[in-house]
Parts: sequence; C-alpha cells; structure tokens
Amino acid sequence: MRSITTLHLQYAHRFYGFKGEAQYLHGHTGILTIEVEDSINPGVNMVFPCNEIKKTAWALLQNFDHALILRSDDPLLPAILDVYEKQGIKNGAPTNTNKGPAFKSELATAYPDCRLVVTKETMTVEGMIKIVYDLLKDKLNIVKLTFVSGDNSASAEFKTSNNIERCPMCGISMVDGVCPKCGYRSSK
Ligand SMILES: [Zn+2]
Ligand SMILES: [Zn+2]
Repeated sequence: MRSITTLHLQYAHRFYGFKGEAQYLHGHTGILTIEVEDSINPGVNMVFPCNEIKKTAWALLQNFDHALILRSDDPLLPAILDVYEKQGIKNGAPTNTNKGPAFKSELATAYPDCRLVVTKETMTVEGMIKIVYDLLKDKLNIVKLTFVSGDNSASAEFKTSNNIERCPMCGISMVDGVCPKCGYRSSK
C-alpha cells in the first residue's frame, strides 16, 4: 500500500539557453506529490504518517520555496550574487527565516541564506523530480514522484530497497532502534 503526501513550492527560475519565453525569469507554484510504499504497519494501521513524510521532505525542500533556482552556468548567477553582496543580503537577512539546512548533492546546491538553489541541469519538472529523488531516496521508501508546475507535469516511478523500521506506536522511522518521538525501543 502507499501513503501519499503533497507539498507546494513557490519558486522563480528560467531555462538558460532555451529558445522560448521560459528563457526569461518567471515564477511558479509547483506541486510535488510523494508516494511512499511499504507494508501496513499493524501498530498504527498505516504505511507511514503523511505529516511525517511532509516533515522529512520539507526539511530539505523548503530551500526551494520562495527561492531562485538557477543553473550553475547561468550568467545571471554571478550577477545576482553581486547585487546581493552589495546590498548586504548575500549571507542572510533577519527576515529570512524559512530555511532548511544547506545541502549539496550531485544535482543541486542550496544556499538558504540568500534563498538560492544552484542546479547542475535546467530545473524543468523532470529535473526537479531527479533532484528530489536524489535528496530523499535514503530517507523515505519513495516509489513515485509527481511534479506539476503550470502547464508542465512529470512523474517517475522508482524501486525502493530501503528497509525502514517504523515505530508501532507512532508509525515514524526508528533511529538506531529507538523511536525519536515516543522512545519505544525495538526488541532487535
Ligand atoms: Zn518555468
Ligand atoms: Zn514512537
């Protein structure tokens, strides 16, 4: 069975080098659907709590929300960093609180202090699915991702090999045999 959760990401980007209107900076509300598959956890009668899927995903993905996403070779990148630097906001501002931990993966690097994500590939809906899977594949048993942004949408299915132990009381992932929420210990 699957547990399914959806989250919204508002972001700006452009397709550098693309021969169409998307080569200009513009914004979207993107809708990401994450499908997690496993057996039903008999203790809580669910696969995985949807709010916990959201929490795990949001910890990293909030860096894409209200952010500018640019490809690493886009000449706008140094230009924007230069403006932020001169304005004194490159390394953060007191009002910038919607931040997850900075991350760097093969496909994307987040700079939460200046609300910027630099990607290796153009951030199409397909590109976003690759980035999200790479960031979350070891944390959740993801079997399908769908990303919808304006008229564009893409989905991909995956095989998961994670064997995630879940708390029979809370349904969430155990950490080293202990539930981080209720303290339940597995007998293993
Ligand atoms: Zn777009
Ligand atoms: Zn628990």
